[in-house]
Amino acid sequence: MGPFILMYHSIAEGSEDPYTVPPNKFEEQLSWLIERGFEAVSLATIVNLLKIGEYKSLRTKIVFTFDDGYKDFLTTALPILLHYKVPATVFIVAGMLGDKVSWNSHSKHAQLMSEDEIRHIKAQGVSLGSHTMTHSNLAKVDEKKVYQELVDSHITLRDLGESFYALSYPWGQWTNQVLNAVKVAGYECAVTASRKMPLGATEYYCLPRVGIKGDMNLKSFQTLFDGSAIEFARKVGRVVKNFLQ
Ligand SMILES: [Zn+2]
Repeated sequence: MGPFILMYHSIAEGSEDPYTVPPNKFEEQLSWLIERGFEAVSLATIVNLLKIGEYKSLRTKIVFTFDDGYKDFLTTALPILLHYKVPATVFIVAGMLGDKVSWNSHSKHAQLMSEDEIRHIKAQGVSLGSHTMTHSNLAKVDEKKVYQELVDSHITLRDLGESFYALSYPWGQWTNQVLNAVKVAGYECAVTASRKMPLGATEYYCLPRVGIKGDMNLKSFQTLFDGSAIEFARKVGRVVKNFLQ
């Protein structure tokens, strides 16, 4: 059941990184979701619907999120998102804007968006979130460093013109203390890298996400959404129609 918060990283051809999705596959996935009747919304919309307990309408919602802030978001993903008029959130490594990726052995030379490029995508309607300052594993550093990573990137988001504060845990890792620090530092929600997290009125700080990998074909992508309310309605609709005939 939805909402489905999708986790993408880089959108590019010919990468060795398993999390890099080729542009044609990305577009195929996006257009299939829209054809199927899913509505792409912002993370802020999801959190607001959770807060008021609107679970029914959440089932048909999807959110596009992109971790790390790769330059190919600007050159490749954004034109596709704009074409379909789909909102998205990019989780930036706020202290590494314009740098090369240093934490991922598969894409060590991949380029991250510069501050100017981040300002440009923000002006195009893209939401920004924090992926900390240095892509630090918050579950493995001391409390002082946790706060520093969270507070400094929160300030950077504000300076870049963002007003809804969301966090994506680097490496998908957190502890209860980290989760508490995220609240104290003024974030409104945080997303994980696991789809198995519970979703409820108080779970804004460990929202589940569906990770999309580059080797997924359309069929395996589609099975991620099996059992959704829309799929159910479609099946029931067909049964009723057959019965009437
Ligand atoms: Zn990351």
